[in-house]
Amino acid sequence: MSSIIPETPDAEQRMLRLIEELYPICRSITGEGVRQTLSIVSRELPLRIHEVSTGTPVFDWTVPKEWNVRDAWVKRARGEKVVDFRQSNLHVLGYSSPIHRIVSRDELLAHLHSVPEHPRWIPYRNSFYRENWGFCVAHDQLSEFDDPEYEVFVDSTLSDGSLTYGEFEVVGSVPDEILIWTHVCHPSLCNDNLSGIAVASQLAQAIAQASPHHSFRFVFAPATIGAITWLAMNESRVRRIVAGLVLACVGDAGHPNYMRSRRGNARVDRAAEYALREVGQKFEVLPFSPYGYDQRQFCSPGFDLPVGCFMRTPNGAYPQYHTSGDNLDIIDGPSLLSSLAIVRRILGILEADRFYINQNPKCEPQLGKRGIYAAIGGRQREGHDEMALLWVLNLSDSRHSLLDIAERSGIPFAAIARAAGVLLECGLLLPTSEAGSEGRST
Ligand code: ZN
Repeated sequence: MSSIIPETPDAEQRMLRLIEELYPICRSITGEGVRQTLSIVSRELPLRIHEVSTGTPVFDWTVPKEWNVRDAWVKRARGEKVVDFRQSNLHVLGYSSPIHRIVSRDELLAHLHSVPEHPRWIPYRNSFYRENWGFCVAHDQLSEFDDPEYEVFVDSTLSDGSLTYGEFEVVGSVPDEILIWTHVCHPSLCNDNLSGIAVASQLAQAIAQASPHHSFRFVFAPATIGAITWLAMNESRVRRIVAGLVLACVGDAGHPNYMRSRRGNARVDRAAEYALREVGQKFEVLPFSPYGYDQRQFCSPGFDLPVGCFMRTPNGAYPQYHTSGDNLDIIDGPSLLSSLAIVRRILGILEADRFYINQNPKCEPQLGKRGIYAAIGGRQREGHDEMALLWVLNLSDSRHSLLDIAERSGIPFAAIARAAGVLLECGLLLPTSEAGSEGRST
């Protein structure tokens, strides 16, 4: 099926260029790194930027102090830098409090983080909700810390400020909304999470050109606290969300994975599985888990939104995850492009999937006298299109959507959608009201 969502020109190169530009920025859940990231994304996509003040209560949480870091290092007594934030922003513990003093080797070691299983990579670690200072280093480097004392310096601020997120909205024919969510809070890591930013940004540009049926909302926000904050700020209107996808880890060469929403059989879950089957490559559909990316907030029981998560290799399932190994080398243009194409396909199904009512339900209508066979290009006596017409007519009783009909008939969704278009034009079908369609299919 060629998706009804258009392709964007040079998408592969533009995604790679965006990732390369964003890679060096030191991001966290708050601070200038997020603002700078959103301002770069805004060059392609005019984002509306929201700032939510430190101290704002958001459900069981509070918007934290804003963290910014300018420099950080560890020096030997004779002045040689052995850890340097300017070499890699992963070296500083995220949310590290400021410090500048001489510490003993033992005290320094207690504040160093490393991963023994991957001794050459710097781990990505944070101390978001407990004030602490620290550094992250390659495990191999630990043996070099043999001086009795070190000078440690973190030039950071933890102060009242705000949490920043960006939104891009495309108003469709109906207020029912499709949410595309990606997180923007990781420092120099590529697959998790710059790949999600790149794919979401291309997708938003495509949808903006498409005059979509649904309204679309793209949100670029910090993970966890950003999702909790966004839900708190938008609680009254999230019921408009009829489908949603969290995008993360979409740039590596692993096969696609889709994690279902908590509902398990929401339209987005069925559309995602259908689209992946149609692509015909290896894929996995994972059951919902209250762990992982921000679908865990959208699918908390007080919201229970139909939001799933599209990934390639999931979080924690590749060795470079949350280490300096998650760099530009583990993502590639064809994988990003393939992720973009799959998500366009999923959204294309969601856009076209409707419920209709056959206006001539007593016996088959006479198609010949309505010129319908000619309308579908003369393939009237063989192939799928005639069967597609018959299936759509038979099952359009307001209880079966086009996706239901495609699944039950085994006929490709695109052919079913085409047949519905023809039948609609000649008055044999009428759309049921949009309201409640999600309820019917779940
Ligand atoms: Zn992560």
